[in-house]
Amino acid sequence: MENYHVCENCSTKNALYALNCTECKSYLRERVVNIDLGSFVFRLIEEPFVSLRKVIFAEHKNYSLVFFILLLIKVFSISFIVRNILPFQKFDFQYFWIYFMNIIVYFLPIFLLLSFSVFKIHQFLGNKERLKDQFATFTFAATPAIMSIVVLLPVEFALFGTYWFTFNPSPFILKSGIAYLLFGIEGILLLWTLFLFFVQFHIRTKKILYSIIAALISFTLLFGLPIIVPVFSF
Ligand SMILES: [Zn+2]
Repeated sequence: MENYHVCENCSTKNALYALNCTECKSYLRERVVNIDLGSFVFRLIEEPFVSLRKVIFAEHKNYSLVFFILLLIKVFSISFIVRNILPFQKFDFQYFWIYFMNIIVYFLPIFLLLSFSVFKIHQFLGNKERLKDQFATFTFAATPAIMSIVVLLPVEFALFGTYWFTFNPSPFILKSGIAYLLFGIEGILLLWTLFLFFVQFHIRTKKILYSIIAALISFTLLFGLPIIVPVFSF
């Protein structure tokens, strides 16, 4: 085990998520019942390690489903733009729901398999973890990308309407300065998500190089594959 709680009472090594010592039942940390959304998002900026560790500690992973659905919408919204930037096929609103189903069909199995593989790899390395924590930390680590859907998308839609997605004409021609600014913020939010992926691996393993590689692979699988594969297949 690379990351664990040492019991102050009997010195037993306990899993990171554990509330009580397996040997003497002493409390190892404060109890976290629910994820407090306000303090979670606020602390994500100040203390990302503390914030994501609380997601592991939380008994109820409330907001998980809402965050997961918003993440799915985010991946879908990137796929709009990728379709229109790549020269192969433009986004056709006639096929809106087919495109959406395509994203679900790719994203859902990748997300589940990735979480399960990480869980199994860490178990093999000797870490005691829970699968539900893996699902939750991947979802909550994507909070910056999710914030773009909640905060930025309405602004983009208000300023550019469907042109933001159709690129016909391109937002860079319509309002060049604002388009670059918004794309810049979108890029920063995605980079921040990548960083939080690193954080969630590092919390568990305390290994820097492993966490960087694992974060890059996970980010590519979750944001790249569900977008690129449907573009070429349909
Ligand atoms: Zn103990």
